Amino acid sequence: MERIHVSVRARPLSPEDAKASPWRISGNSISIPTQPSKFEFDQIFGEDCETRDVYSARTRDIVAAAVRGFNGTVFAYGQTSSGKTHTMRGSSSELGVIPLSVHDVFNIIHQEMDREFLLRMSYMEIYNEEINDLLAPEQRKLQIHESIERGIFVAGLREEIVASADQVLQLMEFGESHRHIGETNMNVYSSRSHTIFRMIIESREKTGDSEAEFSCDAVRVSVLNLVDLAGSERAAKTGAEGVRLKEGSHINKSLMTLGTVIKKLSEGAESQGGHVPYRDSKLTRILQPALGGNANTAMICNITLAQIHADETKSSLQFASRAL
Ligand code: ADP
Ligand code: MG
Repeated sequence: MERIHVSVRARPLSPEDAKASPWRISGNSISIPTQPSKFEFDQIFGEDCETRDVYSARTRDIVAAAVRGFNGTVFAYGQTSSGKTHTMRGSSSELGVIPLSVHDVFNIIHQEMDREFLLRMSYMEIYNEEINDLLAPEQRKLQIHESIERGIFVAGLREEIVASADQVLQLMEFGESHRHIGETNMNVYSSRSHTIFRMIIESREKTGDSEAEFSCDAVRVSVLNLVDLAGSERAAKTGAEGVRLKEGSHINKSLMTLGTVIKKLSEGAESQGGHVPYRDSKLTRILQPALGGNANTAMICNITLAQIHADETKSSLQFASRAL
Protein backbone atom coordinates (compact mmCIF):
# COMPACT_ATOMS: atom_id res chain seq x y z
CA MET A 1 0.00 0.00 0.00
CA GLU A 2 1.08 3.56 -0.65
CA ARG A 3 1.52 5.55 2.51
CA ILE A 4 -1.90 6.47 3.87
CA HIS A 5 -2.79 10.11 3.35
CA VAL A 6 -4.12 11.70 6.53
CA SER A 7 -5.87 15.04 6.56
CA VAL A 8 -7.68 16.84 9.35
CA ARG A 9 -10.81 18.92 8.95
CA ALA A 10 -12.02 21.26 11.69
CA ARG A 11 -15.71 22.07 11.65
CA PRO A 12 -16.96 25.64 12.02
CA LEU A 13 -17.34 27.06 15.53
CA SER A 14 -19.63 29.68 16.97
CA PRO A 15 -17.84 33.02 17.47
CA GLU A 16 -17.72 32.47 21.27
CA ASP A 17 -16.29 28.96 20.89
CA ALA A 18 -13.77 30.26 18.38
CA LYS A 19 -12.56 32.92 20.82
CA ALA A 20 -12.12 30.36 23.61
CA SER A 21 -10.49 27.66 21.47
CA PRO A 22 -7.21 26.39 22.93
CA TRP A 23 -6.01 25.07 19.56
CA ARG A 24 -3.54 26.70 17.22
CA ILE A 25 -3.21 25.61 13.59
CA SER A 26 -0.07 26.54 11.72
CA GLY A 27 0.40 25.08 8.25
CA ASN A 28 0.19 21.32 8.63
CA SER A 29 0.55 21.23 12.37
CA ILE A 30 -1.94 21.62 15.16
CA SER A 31 -1.27 22.04 18.85
CA ILE A 32 -2.41 23.48 22.16
CA PRO A 33 0.36 26.00 22.79
CA THR A 34 0.32 25.47 26.58
CA GLN A 35 0.79 21.71 26.16
CA PRO A 36 3.72 19.72 24.86
CA SER A 37 1.92 17.67 22.19
CA LYS A 38 1.96 18.89 18.62
CA PHE A 39 0.46 16.91 15.74
CA GLU A 40 1.45 17.04 12.07
CA PHE A 41 -0.55 15.77 9.11
CA ASP A 42 -0.48 15.81 5.34
CA GLN A 43 -2.99 18.62 5.35
CA ILE A 44 -5.14 20.49 7.84
CA PHE A 45 -8.35 22.17 6.75
CA GLY A 46 -9.69 24.97 8.89
CA GLU A 47 -13.30 25.92 9.29
CA ASP A 48 -13.35 28.09 6.15
CA CYS A 49 -12.52 25.25 3.82
CA GLU A 50 -15.01 23.56 1.54
CA THR A 51 -15.57 19.84 1.16
CA ARG A 52 -14.34 20.25 -2.41
CA ASP A 53 -10.89 21.23 -1.03
CA VAL A 54 -10.86 18.21 1.26
CA TYR A 55 -11.86 16.04 -1.70
CA SER A 56 -9.11 17.47 -3.92
CA ALA A 57 -6.39 16.80 -1.36
CA ARG A 58 -6.26 13.08 -2.06
CA THR A 59 -9.64 11.46 -2.66
CA ARG A 60 -9.86 12.77 -6.23
CA ASP A 61 -6.68 10.83 -7.13
CA ILE A 62 -7.92 7.72 -5.34
CA VAL A 63 -11.13 7.87 -7.40
CA ALA A 64 -9.20 8.30 -10.66
CA ALA A 65 -6.94 5.38 -9.74
CA ALA A 66 -9.99 3.25 -8.92
CA VAL A 67 -11.29 3.81 -12.45
CA ARG A 68 -7.87 2.64 -13.72
CA GLY A 69 -8.16 -0.56 -11.68
CA PHE A 70 -6.64 0.19 -8.27
CA ASN A 71 -8.66 -0.42 -5.11
CA GLY A 72 -9.15 2.56 -2.84
CA THR A 73 -10.62 3.39 0.57
CA VAL A 74 -11.36 6.74 2.18
CA PHE A 75 -12.48 7.00 5.83
CA ALA A 76 -14.07 9.78 7.80
CA TYR A 77 -13.05 9.39 11.45
CA GLY A 78 -14.07 11.50 14.43
CA GLN A 79 -16.38 12.02 17.37
CA THR A 80 -20.11 12.44 16.87
CA SER A 81 -21.00 15.88 15.49
CA SER A 82 -17.48 16.55 14.24
CA GLY A 83 -18.68 16.63 10.61
CA LYS A 84 -18.08 13.11 9.25
CA THR A 85 -21.43 12.83 7.53
CA HIS A 86 -21.28 16.44 6.37
CA THR A 87 -17.92 15.61 4.79
CA MET A 88 -18.83 12.24 3.26
CA ARG A 89 -22.48 12.51 2.32
CA GLY A 90 -22.81 16.28 2.28
CA SER A 91 -25.69 18.34 3.56
CA SER A 92 -27.92 21.06 2.18
CA SER A 93 -25.03 23.55 2.06
CA GLU A 94 -22.53 21.55 0.02
CA LEU A 95 -21.91 18.27 -1.76
CA GLY A 96 -20.04 15.57 0.13
CA VAL A 97 -17.08 13.44 -0.85
CA ILE A 98 -19.38 10.60 -1.96
CA PRO A 99 -21.39 12.61 -4.52
CA LEU A 100 -18.21 14.36 -5.70
CA SER A 101 -16.57 10.96 -6.21
CA VAL A 102 -19.57 9.50 -7.99
CA HIS A 103 -19.73 12.43 -10.41
CA ASP A 104 -16.00 12.09 -11.09
CA VAL A 105 -16.28 8.35 -11.75
CA PHE A 106 -18.95 8.94 -14.39
CA ASN A 107 -17.10 11.93 -15.89
CA ILE A 108 -13.88 9.94 -16.21
CA ILE A 109 -15.46 6.88 -17.77
CA HIS A 110 -17.37 9.00 -20.27
CA GLN A 111 -14.03 10.36 -21.49
CA GLU A 112 -12.43 6.93 -21.65
CA MET A 113 -12.87 5.88 -25.28
CA ASP A 114 -10.83 2.68 -25.24
CA ARG A 115 -12.62 0.78 -22.51
CA GLU A 116 -16.18 -0.13 -21.67
CA PHE A 117 -17.36 -0.06 -18.08
CA LEU A 118 -19.79 -1.88 -15.87
CA LEU A 119 -20.46 -0.08 -12.59
CA ARG A 120 -22.13 -1.50 -9.53
CA MET A 121 -22.77 -0.06 -6.11
CA SER A 122 -23.53 -1.43 -2.68
CA TYR A 123 -24.29 0.27 0.60
CA MET A 124 -24.02 -1.46 3.94
CA GLU A 125 -23.83 -0.67 7.61
CA ILE A 126 -22.02 -2.47 10.39
CA TYR A 127 -23.95 -2.16 13.62
CA ASN A 128 -22.93 -4.13 16.72
CA GLU A 129 -20.65 -6.25 14.52
CA GLU A 130 -23.63 -7.18 12.33
CA ILE A 131 -23.67 -6.37 8.65
CA ASN A 132 -26.94 -4.99 7.25
CA ASP A 133 -27.68 -4.27 3.62
CA LEU A 134 -28.97 -0.72 3.26
CA LEU A 135 -30.10 -1.34 -0.33
CA ALA A 136 -32.10 -4.42 0.71
CA PRO A 137 -33.34 -3.65 4.23
CA GLU A 138 -34.68 -7.19 4.77
CA GLN A 139 -31.14 -8.52 4.43
CA ARG A 140 -29.67 -8.39 7.92
CA LYS A 141 -26.79 -10.10 9.70
CA LEU A 142 -24.96 -10.92 6.49
CA GLN A 143 -21.86 -13.10 6.65
CA ILE A 144 -18.41 -12.57 5.23
CA HIS A 145 -17.10 -15.33 2.97
CA GLU A 146 -13.98 -15.93 0.97
CA SER A 147 -13.60 -17.82 -2.28
CA ILE A 148 -10.95 -18.19 -4.94
CA GLU A 149 -13.03 -16.45 -7.63
CA ARG A 150 -14.46 -13.63 -5.56
CA GLY A 151 -11.91 -13.13 -2.81
CA ILE A 152 -13.44 -11.73 0.40
CA PHE A 153 -17.10 -10.81 0.00
CA VAL A 154 -20.29 -10.19 1.95
CA ALA A 155 -22.63 -13.03 1.00
CA GLY A 156 -26.01 -11.85 -0.28
CA LEU A 157 -25.13 -8.16 -0.33
CA ARG A 158 -27.06 -6.44 -3.09
CA GLU A 159 -24.91 -4.99 -5.84
CA GLU A 160 -26.99 -2.71 -8.01
CA ILE A 161 -25.85 -2.03 -11.58
CA VAL A 162 -25.76 1.74 -12.02
CA ALA A 163 -25.70 3.87 -15.16
CA SER A 164 -25.65 7.43 -13.90
CA ALA A 165 -24.56 9.52 -10.95
CA ASP A 166 -28.19 10.45 -10.25
CA GLN A 167 -29.15 6.81 -10.01
CA VAL A 168 -26.34 6.15 -7.50
CA LEU A 169 -27.31 9.11 -5.35
CA GLN A 170 -30.98 8.12 -5.37
CA LEU A 171 -30.09 4.61 -4.24
CA MET A 172 -27.98 6.13 -1.49
CA GLU A 173 -30.90 8.22 -0.28
CA PHE A 174 -33.05 5.10 -0.25
CA GLY A 175 -30.35 3.32 1.78
CA GLU A 176 -30.04 6.19 4.24
CA SER A 177 -33.61 5.79 5.38
CA HIS A 178 -32.64 2.42 6.91
CA ARG A 179 -29.65 3.51 8.95
CA HIS A 180 -29.58 2.81 12.65
CA ILE A 181 -29.78 6.10 14.49
CA GLY A 182 -29.79 6.31 18.27
CA GLU A 183 -29.91 9.25 20.63
CA THR A 184 -27.23 9.47 23.29
CA ASN A 185 -27.42 11.78 26.26
CA MET A 186 -24.91 14.04 24.53
CA ASN A 187 -28.22 15.22 23.18
CA VAL A 188 -27.49 14.72 19.52
CA TYR A 189 -28.48 12.06 17.09
CA SER A 190 -25.26 10.22 16.70
CA SER A 191 -24.52 7.55 14.27
CA ARG A 192 -23.74 4.28 16.01
CA SER A 193 -22.83 2.36 12.94
CA HIS A 194 -20.17 2.35 10.28
CA THR A 195 -21.46 2.76 6.74
CA ILE A 196 -19.58 1.57 3.73
CA PHE A 197 -20.55 3.05 0.39
CA ARG A 198 -18.93 1.00 -2.33
CA MET A 199 -18.53 1.25 -6.08
CA ILE A 200 -17.31 -1.75 -8.02
CA ILE A 201 -15.73 -0.67 -11.26
CA GLU A 202 -15.27 -3.27 -13.96
CA SER A 203 -13.87 -2.45 -17.37
CA ARG A 204 -12.63 -4.18 -20.48
CA GLU A 205 -10.80 -3.06 -23.55
CA LYS A 206 -13.05 -2.05 -26.41
CA THR A 207 -11.44 -3.89 -29.25
CA GLY A 208 -12.50 -6.23 -31.98
CA ASP A 209 -9.14 -7.92 -31.66
CA SER A 210 -9.78 -11.34 -30.13
CA GLU A 211 -6.22 -11.51 -28.82
CA ALA A 212 -7.14 -8.76 -26.38
CA GLU A 213 -9.09 -11.32 -24.41
CA PHE A 214 -5.85 -13.03 -23.54
CA SER A 215 -4.01 -9.94 -22.48
CA CYS A 216 -4.00 -9.80 -18.70
CA ASP A 217 -5.01 -6.16 -18.86
CA ALA A 218 -8.20 -6.93 -20.78
CA VAL A 219 -10.50 -6.98 -17.76
CA ARG A 220 -10.00 -4.91 -14.65
CA VAL A 221 -12.11 -4.94 -11.50
CA SER A 222 -11.58 -2.52 -8.68
CA VAL A 223 -13.41 -1.42 -5.59
CA LEU A 224 -13.80 2.07 -4.15
CA ASN A 225 -14.96 2.25 -0.50
CA LEU A 226 -16.10 5.51 1.05
CA VAL A 227 -16.60 4.95 4.75
CA ASP A 228 -18.44 7.04 7.33
CA LEU A 229 -17.22 5.59 10.62
CA ALA A 230 -19.21 5.49 13.84
CA GLY A 231 -18.52 8.20 16.40
CA SER A 232 -15.16 7.65 18.06
CA GLU A 233 -16.09 9.06 21.48
CA ARG A 234 -15.58 6.66 24.32
CA ALA A 235 -18.70 4.95 25.57
CA ALA A 236 -18.02 6.09 29.14
CA LYS A 237 -18.18 9.75 28.26
CA THR A 238 -21.68 9.56 26.85
CA GLY A 239 -22.93 7.98 30.07
CA ALA A 240 -23.82 4.87 28.15
CA GLU A 241 -25.35 1.84 29.80
CA GLY A 242 -26.80 -1.47 28.67
CA VAL A 243 -27.40 -1.61 24.94
CA ARG A 244 -25.58 1.70 24.37
CA LEU A 245 -22.54 0.42 26.25
CA LYS A 246 -22.51 -2.75 24.14
CA GLU A 247 -22.66 -0.63 21.00
CA GLY A 248 -19.86 1.51 22.37
CA SER A 249 -17.56 -1.42 23.02
CA HIS A 250 -18.16 -2.87 19.55
CA ILE A 251 -17.43 0.53 18.03
CA ASN A 252 -14.27 0.93 20.06
CA LYS A 253 -13.09 -2.54 19.14
CA SER A 254 -13.54 -2.09 15.41
CA LEU A 255 -11.98 1.38 15.45
CA MET A 256 -9.08 0.04 17.51
CA THR A 257 -8.62 -2.83 15.08
CA LEU A 258 -8.76 -0.38 12.17
CA GLY A 259 -6.05 1.69 13.85
CA THR A 260 -3.87 -1.38 14.38
CA VAL A 261 -4.38 -2.65 10.82
CA ILE A 262 -3.46 0.72 9.33
CA LYS A 263 -0.43 1.00 11.58
CA LYS A 264 0.79 -2.49 10.63
CA LEU A 265 0.32 -1.71 6.95
CA SER A 266 2.16 1.59 7.21
CA GLU A 267 5.04 -0.23 8.92
CA GLY A 268 5.19 -2.58 5.94
CA ALA A 269 4.08 -5.64 7.95
CA GLU A 270 2.16 -7.14 5.03
CA SER A 271 4.96 -7.04 2.48
CA GLN A 272 7.32 -8.49 5.10
CA GLY A 273 4.95 -11.41 5.71
CA GLY A 274 3.93 -10.10 9.14
CA HIS A 275 0.53 -10.53 10.75
CA VAL A 276 -2.13 -7.91 10.02
CA PRO A 277 -5.21 -8.51 12.23
CA TYR A 278 -7.88 -7.93 9.56
CA ARG A 279 -10.01 -10.69 11.07
CA ASP A 280 -10.39 -8.96 14.42
CA SER A 281 -13.32 -6.87 13.18
CA LYS A 282 -15.95 -7.04 10.45
CA LEU A 283 -14.97 -3.56 9.29
CA THR A 284 -11.34 -4.44 8.59
CA ARG A 285 -12.21 -7.85 7.16
CA ILE A 286 -14.63 -6.33 4.64
CA LEU A 287 -12.14 -3.63 3.69
CA GLN A 288 -9.12 -5.95 3.59
CA PRO A 289 -8.83 -6.12 -0.22
CA ALA A 290 -8.94 -2.33 -0.45
CA LEU A 291 -6.50 -1.63 2.38
CA GLY A 292 -3.55 -3.90 1.76
CA GLY A 293 -1.80 -4.79 -1.48
CA ASN A 294 -1.46 -1.83 -3.82
CA ALA A 295 -4.63 -0.12 -2.63
CA ASN A 296 -4.76 3.63 -2.01
CA THR A 297 -6.00 4.78 1.37
CA ALA A 298 -6.86 8.13 2.93
CA MET A 299 -8.25 9.18 6.25
CA ILE A 300 -10.11 12.41 6.91
CA CYS A 301 -10.06 13.08 10.63
CA ASN A 302 -12.95 15.35 11.55
CA ILE A 303 -12.48 17.43 14.68
CA THR A 304 -13.92 20.35 16.58
CA LEU A 305 -11.65 23.01 18.05
CA ALA A 306 -14.10 23.81 20.86
CA GLN A 307 -12.63 23.97 24.36
CA ILE A 308 -15.09 21.49 25.87
CA HIS A 309 -14.10 18.77 23.40
CA ALA A 310 -10.35 19.29 23.69
CA ASP A 311 -9.68 15.82 25.18
CA GLU A 312 -11.80 14.07 22.57
CA THR A 313 -10.14 16.05 19.78
CA LYS A 314 -6.74 15.11 21.18
CA SER A 315 -7.61 11.43 21.09
CA SER A 316 -8.87 11.76 17.50
CA LEU A 317 -5.60 13.42 16.49
CA GLN A 318 -3.66 10.70 18.29
CA PHE A 319 -5.60 8.03 16.40
CA ALA A 320 -5.03 9.77 13.09
CA SER A 321 -1.31 10.26 13.67
CA ARG A 322 -0.85 6.52 14.32
CA ALA A 323 -1.79 6.02 10.67
CA LEU A 324 1.01 8.20 9.30
P1 ADP B 1 -21.04 13.47 12.44
O1 ADP B 1 -21.48 12.73 11.22
O2 ADP B 1 -19.55 13.44 12.64
O3 ADP B 1 -21.77 13.06 13.66
P2 ADP B 1 -22.32 15.72 11.15
O4 ADP B 1 -21.69 15.66 9.81
O5 ADP B 1 -23.70 15.19 11.25
O6 ADP B 1 -21.38 15.03 12.24
O7 ADP B 1 -22.25 17.24 11.65
C1 ADP B 1 -23.02 17.73 12.74
C2 ADP B 1 -23.69 19.04 12.32
O8 ADP B 1 -22.73 20.04 12.00
C3 ADP B 1 -24.56 18.89 11.08
O9 ADP B 1 -25.70 19.71 11.23
C4 ADP B 1 -23.68 19.40 9.96
O10 ADP B 1 -24.43 19.89 8.87
C5 ADP B 1 -22.87 20.48 10.66
N1 ADP B 1 -21.53 20.58 10.06
C6 ADP B 1 -20.49 19.74 10.25
N2 ADP B 1 -19.40 20.12 9.57
C7 ADP B 1 -19.74 21.22 8.90
C8 ADP B 1 -19.05 22.12 8.01
N3 ADP B 1 -17.77 21.92 7.65
N4 ADP B 1 -19.74 23.17 7.52
C9 ADP B 1 -21.01 23.40 7.86
N5 ADP B 1 -21.73 22.60 8.69
C10 ADP B 1 -21.10 21.53 9.21
MG1 MG C 1 -22.75 11.14 11.06
